[in-house]
Amino acid sequence: MLIVVRYSRVGPWAGIFHPIRLPYNSLMATTQISPAVREKYEPVIGLEVHVQLLTKTKIFCGCSTQFGAPPNTNVCSVCLGLPGALPVLNKQVVEFAVLAAQALGCQVRETSIFARKNYFYPDLPKGYQISQYDKPLAEHGKIDIKVGDGPAKTIGITRLHVEEDAGKSLHEGFRDSASNTYIDLNRSGVPLIEIVSEPDMRSPDEAYEYLTRLKEIILYTGVSDCNMEEGSLRCDANVSVRPRGQEKFGTRTEVKNVNSFRFIREALEYEIARHIEVIEDGGTIQQETRLYNSSEGRTYGMRSKEQAHDYRYFPEPDLLPLIVDSRWQEAGRKTLPELPEARRARMVSEYGITQQDAQVLTASRMLADQFEEAAKAAKSPKRVANLVQSELMGRLKAKGLEIGASPISMKGVAVSADLVEAGAISSKILKDLYDKAFASGEDFPAVYEREKPQQITDVAAIEAIIDEVIAASPKQVEQYRSGKITVMGFFVGQVMKASKGQAKPELVNELLKNKLG
Ligand code: ADP
Ligand code: MG
Ligand code: ZN
Repeated sequence: MLIVVRYSRVGPWAGIFHPIRLPYNSLMATTQISPAVREKYEPVIGLEVHVQLLTKTKIFCGCSTQFGAPPNTNVCSVCLGLPGALPVLNKQVVEFAVLAAQALGCQVRETSIFARKNYFYPDLPKGYQISQYDKPLAEHGKIDIKVGDGPAKTIGITRLHVEEDAGKSLHEGFRDSASNTYIDLNRSGVPLIEIVSEPDMRSPDEAYEYLTRLKEIILYTGVSDCNMEEGSLRCDANVSVRPRGQEKFGTRTEVKNVNSFRFIREALEYEIARHIEVIEDGGTIQQETRLYNSSEGRTYGMRSKEQAHDYRYFPEPDLLPLIVDSRWQEAGRKTLPELPEARRARMVSEYGITQQDAQVLTASRMLADQFEEAAKAAKSPKRVANLVQSELMGRLKAKGLEIGASPISMKGVAVSADLVEAGAISSKILKDLYDKAFASGEDFPAVYEREKPQQITDVAAIEAIIDEVIAASPKQVEQYRSGKITVMGFFVGQVMKASKGQAKPELVNELLKNKLG
């Protein structure tokens, strides 16, 4: 079943359901400002992030939240907003929201209040969204960020509140899309948390970093899959500029619903340049909501910004105040997993790996769990860290596999790391065995047992190869003897190649040093 909305193409309501197609404030900005002019201004950025919670059912009814179901099949009288239907709060939503709030360092309010946010839009059947307003679930959180080698910085989180999603307007993809918009209400009533940051970011890179860390933390809590393509993570970016040194913020614009972090960074770059250009030309920025067109790399005005009073917020009379008492909060804190930042610090000290290794290996909780399993089983956790990054992750990516589906188990990784560590196989042979494991889908130990390479440990045999290599490379010998010892790597490589990777590396090194003097 599809619901069709007709809309007018003329008059004051023209295109109101088609904001993307109506760039009525499309004052073209060239964004050709010079670096010197750009430097005169400081950007100020605050982000509003919506995260869909991974509950099985919706926030106020028992309908399924499953993504991709046929349109308008996961609906009932409550989420269709039929008269007389009453909402009943899903406890799991509150548990997930509390967990997210605690992971983001927020203070959870003992009593929070649901409120009606009233506005008219065809995908909002009740004519209001149940949200929270002046008493949100949680406040005063923070996320630590670090851009490149820059200093660490803390971005404040103003609030985290719980709300229901609206339905989805389908403007494109139908034969009659030119005149009709279709509505799918499966999403109506799906639980969301909205996380509002303080205007603490000063560059698009900081915004990108904030979003990356935010997503990572939420993923660790497991309350959302943060899948941007499916809309489980959506971001509105608020941005203004001010002359450097000025305390007062400039007028902001809000860029809505950009669907990747990269595009958010681009949209912010564009908006900053546009603001500066308008101001430099003697103009003023209008507070408005804008949309980013990623193929054109620019934003379009969409509508002037609503003020809070436009929404006529008032407490939701059909729901009781939400009480999350200290016992509940304590229980939440107990189920909180170790968070990425803390985990990285621990892994660096526990396994002797670098901060950079830790960064890569904690990219997901699953990856970090798997790495730790292998690191604990192996003699050298450091070697495991290298192997996972240089040999395992690339092969997994090429096959489109998650770490959990790796043919080489973590035990296999540990076994292979120990073999290299003991000098029983060279890294060249390890690569070979990994290739074979990925080709056949077998675990490392099985492949190793079958293919167990004969390592050449016979001194005379290796010396014979070394003599050949030395004889064939007089120039490099010359260089080495005149003090350029870095050509050692070249000789090792040549000998390993000539021995088809089978010469024992330690022995090669030792014998080469002797021969070259
Ligand atoms: P809204 O009216 O959009 O519901 P808020 O007052 O909650 O919202 O602010 C929305 C976001 O805008 C917040 O993330 C806040 O940090 C940010 N913000 C507020 N003022 C500015 C400004 N002058 N420049 C940039 N961002 C701002
Ligand atoms: Mg906003
Ligand atoms: Zn329902």
